[in-house]
Amino acid sequence: MNINNDNSRGKESGQKIIIGIDDHDSPVAGCTTHFSTLLIKELIKEKIKLLDFPYLVRLNPNIPWKTRGNASIKIIIYSERDIDELADIIWNKSIEYTEKISKSAKYNRKPGLAISNKDISDRWFYEKAVKDVIPLNLAIEYAKKQGMIIKGDRGIIGSIAAISYKPKEFTYELITYRPENEWNKNKREIDINSVIEFENKYFPYVFENIDYIKKYLLISPHGTDPILYGIRGIDANILLKGLNEIITNDKIDMAMIFKTNQATDDHINSFSNYFYQTTEIEGEISKIDNIRGGDVIINVNSSTIIVYKETGELNIASKLLKVGDTIRVVGAVKPSVKYGKIIEAEKIEVIKLNNKIFKNPECPKCNGSTESLGKGKGFRCKKCGYRFIGEKKLKEIPRELTLGIYQSRYYRHLSKPIYLNLIKENNLNIDIINNIIKYLVNFKNMYTYS
Ligand SMILES: [Zn+2]
Repeated sequence: MNINNDNSRGKESGQKIIIGIDDHDSPVAGCTTHFSTLLIKELIKEKIKLLDFPYLVRLNPNIPWKTRGNASIKIIIYSERDIDELADIIWNKSIEYTEKISKSAKYNRKPGLAISNKDISDRWFYEKAVKDVIPLNLAIEYAKKQGMIIKGDRGIIGSIAAISYKPKEFTYELITYRPENEWNKNKREIDINSVIEFENKYFPYVFENIDYIKKYLLISPHGTDPILYGIRGIDANILLKGLNEIITNDKIDMAMIFKTNQATDDHINSFSNYFYQTTEIEGEISKIDNIRGGDVIINVNSSTIIVYKETGELNIASKLLKVGDTIRVVGAVKPSVKYGKIIEAEKIEVIKLNNKIFKNPECPKCNGSTESLGKGKGFRCKKCGYRFIGEKKLKEIPRELTLGIYQSRYYRHLSKPIYLNLIKENNLNIDIINNIIKYLVNFKNMYTYS
C-alpha cells in the first residue's frame, strides 16, 4: 500500500501513526501484549490498517524493580482519524483495561502510552532502554522534543522505547490467549509431545520452546494471566501452523503474532561496568574457585564473574576451566555484598585453552615426584628424599573442554541462542499481514469447546 498516494480514499487523507504501550499487566491479571491484541481488535473496527505486525519489545532485563518480562509494545497503523482523537480513544481503552482487568493501581503498576505521527530517525532511546536505565523526567523531555503525545505514568518510558525500536534483526513470537473466565486456572493443559513434534519438524525456524534436559515446556507461564502459550520462531507462516499443530485442552480466545527483539542480544553493552547493564568482557582467567553450593567464581582482568549452578550446562563447562584460559563472558553487572560488583554469566565463549602447566622436575634417582624447597633452593624427592637443583618443566595436560560457546540453560528473553539465524527483513506484504492479524484476533480453537 502506498500511504502517500492512496486515491481510493478520496480527498480524506490519512496518516501513519505509531503507538507505544507499556506496563498494562499486574501480578494477578492482564498483560501488556493481551491489551495490545484487544486494542488491535478494536482498532480494526475503527477501519484502521496495520502497517506491520505489532512489535513486542523487551527492555533491560536487569532492572531490579521491573517485572520478569519487562516488555513493551509498538503498533504501527494507517488511520484517517486525527491523532489527538485517536490518542483519546486508545487512552480510554487503556484506563478501562487497567482498572477492570489488571487492577494496576492496586499493584502499584504505572501504565503509560506514547503516540506519534512521525518516525524517530535513530534508535538512541531504545538502545538506552534495553541496555540501561531511563529516568521518567528524561523520557518526558524526550517525548516533548519529538512531538509525541504521552499519557499515563512510568509506563511512558517503555512506550517511547517501543516507538523508537527499529529492528536491525528480529524474531517472531506467536502468543495465544485464554478466555477471561479461565484466567484463574494456574495450570495449562498442553500436550508436550505435540510441542516436541512441532519443534523437531521446524527447527531451526522455531526455537527455545522446550527444555529437553528437564523435559518441560518453556512456552507457558504458570500464573493467572491471559497467556496460554507463546511460541518463538523466525518464520511467521510456520508459527501460524503451531495454532493447529500444538494440542491443548485449553480454550484459545485470541492470538497474535509479534515481531520482537527477543533472542537478538540487543541488551549487551560491551565492556560496560555499570550496575544493571549486561556487559561483555574478554581476558585470561587469573583465578577460579568452585564454591559451596555448586556456583563457580572466576576472575578475569579485574572482574569477578559468578556462574550459578542453575545455569546448567554453562556451570558444568565453567568447572572445567583453568587459570590461563582465555574466555569471553556475557552477563549482568550486579551489586554484591561479598564482592562489591559481580558479573552474573549468561554465556561464556572459550577462546583459548591453556593446555600447558609448569611442573616440578622428576627425581633424577628414582623418578619420584618432588617438592620445591623455595625459589632457587632446588627440589626434594618425596619418595627417596634426594635433594637437587633443577628447573620446573612445561608439561601438556589433557583438557576435557573444547573451544566454543557455552550458554545458560535458562535463556533470558533477549539472549541469542548459538544456532539461531536472525531475520533482517519482512517479506510479507501489508495486505497479507492485515489478513493474518484479522484471522488471529478472531481465532478460537472451537473443537475444544465441545
Ligand atoms: Zn627419588
